[in-house]
Amino acid sequence: MPSNLAKKSETQAPDKNRPFALDPLFRRVTDLSGIGPRNAALFEKLCGGERVVDLLWHLPIDFVDRRFAPQVKDAPDGRIATLTVTVQKHAPNKHRNQPYKVSCTDETGPLTLVFFHPRKDWLEKQLPEGATVIVSGKIEHYQGNAQMTHPDAIGTLEDREKIETVEPIYPLTAGVTNKTVRKAVEGALGFVQAMPEWLDQSYKTKQRWPDWHDALQTAHNPPGENGLDPLHPARARLAYDEFLANQLALALVRHKQQRKQGRQYQTGGPLRDKLLAALPFELTGAQKRTVTEIDADMAAPLRMLRLLQGDVGSGKTVVAALSMLNAIASGTQAAIMAPTEILARQHAESLKPWLDECGIRFVTLTGRDKGKTREALLQQIRSGAAQIVIGTHALFQESVAFADLGVAVIDEQHRFGVHQRLMLAAKGKGVDVLVMTATPIPRTLTLTAYGDMDVSRLDEKPPGRKPIDTLLIAHDHLEKMEESLVRKIAEGARIYWVCPLVEESEFLDLAAAEERYEVLQARFGERVGLVHGRMKGEEKDAVMKKFAAGELDILVATTVIEVGVNVPEATIMVIEYAERFGLSQLHQLRGRVGRGADKSYCFLIYSSPLGITAKERLATMRDTEDGFLIAEKDLELRGAGEILGTKQSGMPDFRVADITVHGELLAAARDDAKLIIDKDPDLKTERGEALRTLLYLFERDQAITYLRSG
Ligand code: ADP
Ligand code: MG
Repeated sequence: MPSNLAKKSETQAPDKNRPFALDPLFRRVTDLSGIGPRNAALFEKLCGGERVVDLLWHLPIDFVDRRFAPQVKDAPDGRIATLTVTVQKHAPNKHRNQPYKVSCTDETGPLTLVFFHPRKDWLEKQLPEGATVIVSGKIEHYQGNAQMTHPDAIGTLEDREKIETVEPIYPLTAGVTNKTVRKAVEGALGFVQAMPEWLDQSYKTKQRWPDWHDALQTAHNPPGENGLDPLHPARARLAYDEFLANQLALALVRHKQQRKQGRQYQTGGPLRDKLLAALPFELTGAQKRTVTEIDADMAAPLRMLRLLQGDVGSGKTVVAALSMLNAIASGTQAAIMAPTEILARQHAESLKPWLDECGIRFVTLTGRDKGKTREALLQQIRSGAAQIVIGTHALFQESVAFADLGVAVIDEQHRFGVHQRLMLAAKGKGVDVLVMTATPIPRTLTLTAYGDMDVSRLDEKPPGRKPIDTLLIAHDHLEKMEESLVRKIAEGARIYWVCPLVEESEFLDLAAAEERYEVLQARFGERVGLVHGRMKGEEKDAVMKKFAAGELDILVATTVIEVGVNVPEATIMVIEYAERFGLSQLHQLRGRVGRGADKSYCFLIYSSPLGITAKERLATMRDTEDGFLIAEKDLELRGAGEILGTKQSGMPDFRVADITVHGELLAAARDDAKLIIDKDPDLKTERGEALRTLLYLFERDQAITYLRSG
């Protein structure tokens, strides 16, 4: 698992090479004064971790300026002010629902403090009659008199400096007050030491960025409105730091990969001719271009590390097959790994006729293979009898040894991360790696997750595809739509029916799907199937098979069908509560139809009223099928973090940086990282040493282990 996804609450055994100056930042928040275990749990929820460093990245979203300290008569209505007044008289309330009033004054006029449901003894202690006090809060005028209801702060004259400040306001969660967060953050800032500068001096000067230490202080104590701006020098610098750590880590990995000699493979040749002759179609222009790019990588002495982006149905499988043939023609093995069991089996099925045609021996290995079967498969892989191995992450396991793995294809679908890729690549010497992804990723995001890879894009669909008609249908009209489905089924249509995605609740997902299944069965009879994530692999496969074989007309599903599955005869996709899905997900789902010769439809069922973004999402779906365009729109509408489901994807989740606003900084960080690797690949110079600290700070230290090992 990428280090940045490791559970942040775990205080892992620190890397012994981590600079000592960082130790305090990786202590638990309970080490801060006044922060107990209960708060720690809440901070974990709030900041994604319960270590000091997690607090540092938790930046304020607003502030209250308490520096305005006028005299009472000059305090304007509605404004926050800090006033110095003398307490004159307490007027306790007579009934529960009446306010408790404390009249005060300065030399310019009276001020009434108003409290509801007060604690009398507390008030008397805070505001003794005759004392001069500092109160800060919102001024209101009532019948011409200034008053302040529930001051935000009350103190003695000595407290003036503490009160008369700009007070940052933090994102909160139930059970945590702003005061607590502030106190914790102040404590955390106290743990921060000045660090050697890891930025390029001239770039830093040009940007007018402060030192890291100062940037943190400023970010947490916004000097005014513009201090909240993500492009404020303090925040921009922190964002850049984070990007630089990300890009440098990727660049180090890549450098390491390439430094290791790859092998030079024969490309093309009789095997390829055989396969191409066996295909019932011509390669598209985009496929040809991509194959040429892969050939160049594989023929070169450097390792291949290439990302193949292609929309669903763009024909990635045949490209994968052609690159695997290169390895086999050169006498090595190839592996292709899919994120799920179903997909692995599907790959096996679609590759089988081609591989058989070419006389290539292959095996399929998944977590489901146990005991003797598994042993036999492992033996074939070990001996080289299996030239191609198709599988799931089961291929990572230690017990899996290849005779000589030449190329690894990873059909990623956003389920694997950088390090998993490397693990498979580590199963051989100088293994070439081709990663395939079905969700087109906006360019800016490609940089953050795949900055270490070359990219090919399959941006052209195989010919003969008919456009999918996408219709937006209000939930109230569901019955009418069902009537039209009856007709379609009579004509032989096969239908996917995806049920509501209930946020973070697999259980509710399931309930909804089961209910829909029953309703549809009542209406359409026995030829309705149900598949969901709680089912066992075999059960799932059995249902999918029936659907693929045409024994079912309707397949009700939770989002488990999102990934993969190929049933060209399915021509209708119904998605209930479509407004709850993200654009990319809708796009993936829709991609399950439109794969065959017949015209396909996608019904997006929504329930009114729709929010603005939901509306825009659905309209985008209706208007385009271009995955790259949809991906860009998705980024625009949702922001980067959510796009691909960070947690599953291995996409880095940035703490301070925000791709939607700091995109330019990301590009700059990538160039910076490249330059660093060119000049100081082992991070040995003074700046290099500082950069190591940066990597540790952002927990990209996995990359440092690459430095050490070679
Ligand atoms: P992806 O994996 O990119 O979603 P596939 O490789 O599964 O797409 O291809 C989808 C379908 O298109 C398959 O049935 C495949 O045989 C077919 N196909 C691939 N390339 C072409 C092409 N150049 N012309 C026509 N059909 C193609
Ligand atoms: Mg595929």
